[in-house]
Amino acid sequence: MIAENKGKLAVYWAASCGGCEIALLAINEKILEVAKHFDIVLWPCATDGKVRDVEKMADGSIDVCLFNGGIRTSEHEYMARLLRRKAKVLVAFGSCASEGCIPGLANTSDRKEIFRTVYHETPSTENPQGIEPRHAVEMPEGKLHLPIFYDTLFTLDQIVHVDYYLPGCPPEAERIWEAITAILENKLPPKGSVIGANTTVCDECPRKRTEKKIRKFYRTWEIIPDEETCLLEQGIICAGVATRAGCGAKCPRVNSPCIGCYGVNDGVDFGARLMSALASVIDSDDPEEIEQIIREGIPDPVGTFYRFSLAHSLLRRKKKAPAGA
Ligand code: SF4
Repeated sequence: MIAENKGKLAVYWAASCGGCEIALLAINEKILEVAKHFDIVLWPCATDGKVRDVEKMADGSIDVCLFNGGIRTSEHEYMARLLRRKAKVLVAFGSCASEGCIPGLANTSDRKEIFRTVYHETPSTENPQGIEPRHAVEMPEGKLHLPIFYDTLFTLDQIVHVDYYLPGCPPEAERIWEAITAILENKLPPKGSVIGANTTVCDECPRKRTEKKIRKFYRTWEIIPDEETCLLEQGIICAGVATRAGCGAKCPRVNSPCIGCYGVNDGVDFGARLMSALASVIDSDDPEEIEQIIREGIPDPVGTFYRFSLAHSLLRRKKKAPAGA
């Protein structure tokens, strides 16, 4: 793809915090290179492109779509299907699109429970009439519609076929630029690949490692770790052992454990990989003592093992009650 023959780029934001959009601008002046090579046909956060204009485009006429966010509503699903049709290359951009990320933790609930908490129970909510969002409302001016809020947060590839994954919460600017360069130079890996290395954060971490033997897990506020030794060896759950490299081990470098935002480095289930790594370092043969170490040190297993990946894990969501139960 060359500048004289500009490509078409779309960027879309579904269920996410918007950090991926900011990360895209973190490539700084290189964004001008992007503009040199691509016409931006849709980027609701930054430009005034309209969905109806995309609908009118021929299928396959967008060269690349960077899609960030999970699929939480009928509008997200519509846009995912529309952009899949229009784009030659669809990239699940960031952790929410790839794995569900923090919005995917809502898969421990369903729409009813989420609405009850958000519209009725939070201390800051004032809603004396108990109003909740409805899909359709009759008004004197006509019927108004809101997108349907789904029970389950889906990852992009649970709705449409995805060509590439660029993980991270958000993806690091260097990795974004590497991906853009690979697109421009037509050097992308085989379709279906995660763009980036499949080594771990531990491989990028400068901390000293010896032998991991853990008899107690500490939460970060319970201990001030020494700044040179592996955090996991100090009893702090650091997910670097299971997490794909790409960030340069930014968190461990500032005395904070890796929480796994780049997703699993290998395999399909981040939690299973991290659990298996932790199980191998607990220094006890006594099942009761092991149980106690886990219960006291890991009070939030879902948040620890599936913070970024519940929606894309083998578990995917909390089991739903049968209809009518
Ligand atoms: Fe570094 Fe964490 Fe891996 Fe230890 S477990 S080497 S602190 S990334």
